[in-house]
Parts: sequence; structure tokens; C-alpha cells
Amino acid sequence: MKASKYPLFTQKNEPSNVEVTSHKLMIKAGLIRQQSSGQYNFLPIGYRVLNKIENIIREEMNKIGSSEILMPSVQPSELWKESGRWDSYGSELLRLKDRHEREYCLGPTFEEVITDLVRKDLNSYKQLPINLYQISSKFRDEIRPRFGIMRAREFIMKDAYSFHLDTECLDKWYEIYKKAYENIFERLQLEYTMVDADSGNIGGNISNEFHVIADTGEDDLLIDDNGIGVNFEIAKTKYKSNDINKIIKENKLTHKKGIEVGHIFKLGDKYSKAMGLCIANSDSKTCHIEMGCYGIGVSRIIAAAIEQNHDENGIVWPMSITPFEFVLVEIDGHKNNNVRQFADKIYKDLLKKNIEIIFDDRETKLGNKLNDWELIGIPNILIIGKSESENQSVTYKKRGGKNKNNLSISELMNLVQS
Ligand code: ATP
Ligand code: MG
Repeated sequence: MKASKYPLFTQKNEPSNVEVTSHKLMIKAGLIRQQSSGQYNFLPIGYRVLNKIENIIREEMNKIGSSEILMPSVQPSELWKESGRWDSYGSELLRLKDRHEREYCLGPTFEEVITDLVRKDLNSYKQLPINLYQISSKFRDEIRPRFGIMRAREFIMKDAYSFHLDTECLDKWYEIYKKAYENIFERLQLEYTMVDADSGNIGGNISNEFHVIADTGEDDLLIDDNGIGVNFEIAKTKYKSNDINKIIKENKLTHKKGIEVGHIFKLGDKYSKAMGLCIANSDSKTCHIEMGCYGIGVSRIIAAAIEQNHDENGIVWPMSITPFEFVLVEIDGHKNNNVRQFADKIYKDLLKKNIEIIFDDRETKLGNKLNDWELIGIPNILIIGKSESENQSVTYKKRGGKNKNNLSISELMNLVQS
């Protein structure tokens, strides 16, 4: 990738009406642009990060044996009337009519659609368990969309659903998904914690949330000595008090602010009973299917990662989700052919090593280029100017670090392979 042909969309001026750092940096670094309230376009840099996160999630879902599908985002009201949520879900459900006056909603979550899908195809208990997931846009008409893509109206969610003959099987798979979630957040290189949570309007009685720890988080997490946490919403009932400070003091808990990035639920038979999803077991006894559902806020993770990883110059990406691993900044290559040729050689050598690298060959000052890449947050910056091309070396700067090192070509190759 050459920066001269790559639309960067970085901007110097401070965006107005932004309340949190991640929102500001996502606009300034050119990751997103607002379309309308709570709806955002993903620009090339932002979309690269989104894809990296999706791929980590995809790999971990595939690894446990959950299979990817895709369901339509416009859902018929009949299914929601069967589950009872057409009335109970409230104004977050965006409802619409087609030309025949039939009612639909834009999918905020997919329990109804997937329960219907499975009930039409399930004809033997031997097909169970069934594990399916999708990565797609969800629409929730949030009362107050805010913090950019953190609380959007249209956002990307990974939602998985599992179907079981009995609760033992559900319990087993719930733990398998929990472990997969831990693997995902480890691989994303984010500081996170899992807590007991409230099931909200998805339903069921057991649920756990995954939170990225950040001061700007909207959730209060109370964590005990063993690292076991509860969301304050649950703690109120558990400790029979609404006074967070009192609960913390009396129970010797640690208080952290979190951004909810994942939520898994044991749904039990809530949807299978309401929608008639059942099957005869090996004793010919008819059982309602036990279900679980497992969500991750894919686009919210980008904002959460930035809340946790930034400095005064911009974003500092974890290696796992950085839009590019390396940037190669050329000083005045358009004026000096030796610089251009040497930089181009290094760029091609690194491409051959499968390094994700962008070559900044733009006709602009070094200072402007460095400002852009620090704002965008590329972890490794290489600089090649006149002296480097004469010495056949590169200047290396780690994003967020103070030092610059001069590296020979072999030292550079060792660095990129480490
Ligand atoms: P919240 O409490 O933040 O409103 P929720 O509990 O309603 O979220 P879930 O139904 O658990 O959300 O959805 C699964 C995941 O989708 C959440 O853990 C979160 O990461 C993400 N998510 C939910 N609502 C939004 C939104 N408005 N914008 C971006 N991501 C969202
Ligand atoms: Mg939730």
C-alpha cells in the first residue's frame, strides 16, 4: 500500500460535540465519519481495524465448532409477536412497513429469527447440539446515541446461538463459549474482566458480561479478592443496597469502570417454549430445546481499544488489531531518487516477509507525515531520508516510545521477524 494512493482522511481541527477521547481520535485519525445520529461510515483505516477484530472472533468461533451464517436484517413482526417481544421490547425496536402494509422491524438481536430457522429444519435430537453465529449490522433506536460508535444506533455485532437437548449440554457449551471469549479478548490484547450480569430484555437467568477496563466506561464493576466480579446492577440485588460505596466498603470489593464489549446468556427454554421449538428425545419424550446466546460488540471494541490505548499524540494500537504493522516514511523521495529507490527496496523486502506495511511516499513534510501516523497509531515507524539511503540503514521509532534507533538492513529484518 502506498500512501499517495490511499485516502487517509486525517484531520487537524478538533471535532465539535465529542465527549470521549476515542470518538475524537476516530474522527481525527480518519476511521469513521458520521452519517446521521448514531450511524457511521467506516473509512479505509477504520474498516481495516474492524476486519481484524472480526477475523479474530471468526477464528475463535470456528475453532469451537460454531458455524457462520448470515440472516436478513429486516425481520417480520409475526416472529416477534410469537415471542412476545413485539410489545415488550419498547422504542428501541425500529418498526417499519412494506408496500403491502406488512409490519417488520430492523433486527436489534436475532433470537426470534434463528429459533424460527432451526425449528423448520430440526427433525431429530441427533442433530443437536447446533451452534451458529453471524457477524452483521444490528439496529437499536437508542434513546441517546453517544460516544461515536460506542453507543450507535447501527453497529456491528457478532451473535452466536446454541441449541441443546438438555441443560447439561447447554451448561457445557456455555463454558466453551466463555473460554472462547477469554481467548478472543486475550488475542485482542485488551485489559478486560468478566462479571455476572443482568439479562435485560434478551432473557434467561444466567448471564455474564465482558468489559474492557477504561475510566470512561459506563458500567460500574465490583470485583472481589479472587478477581470475581459483578455488575453494580446485579450487586444492588445481591447485597440488598443501592449505595455503591457502602457495598464496596462492607464487602472489600474493588471498583472499576468498564465498557461492555460482550454478553453471553443462558436463555434456557424462553424462546423455544414461546415459539414451539421442541423435539422427541431418545425415550420419545418431547422436550423444549435449551438455548444459549452469545454477543460481542465488534464495532464497540474499536472505541474501547482506543479508550484504553492512546497518548497525547493519538491512538496506540495493540499489534493484533493495528490497521498496518509498519509504516515506512520517506523524506523527500520525490526530490531525491536515491532515497526513493532505497525506500522502495525496503518496502518491497518487507512486503515479501508478509509484513502489513504502508509506504508513505506523499509529497509532504516529514513532520506532517509523522503527525498523521502517530495520530493513526501505527506501532512501528521506519524513516528513510538522505543519510539513511547513503548508509543503507533505516531509522526506527516505536510508537509511544521516546527512542529512535538506527538499524542496518539485517537488524531491520530481525526486528520484523520477532
Ligand atoms: P448496553 O448495556 O451497552 O446498552 P446491551 O446490554 O443492550 O448493551 P447486548 O444486548 O448485550 O447489549 O448486546 C451485545 C453486545 O453488543 C454488547 O455487549 C455491546 O458490546 C454491543 N452493543 C449493544 N448495544 C450497542 C450499541 N448501541 N452500539 C454499539 N454496540 C452495542
Ligand atoms: Mg448486555
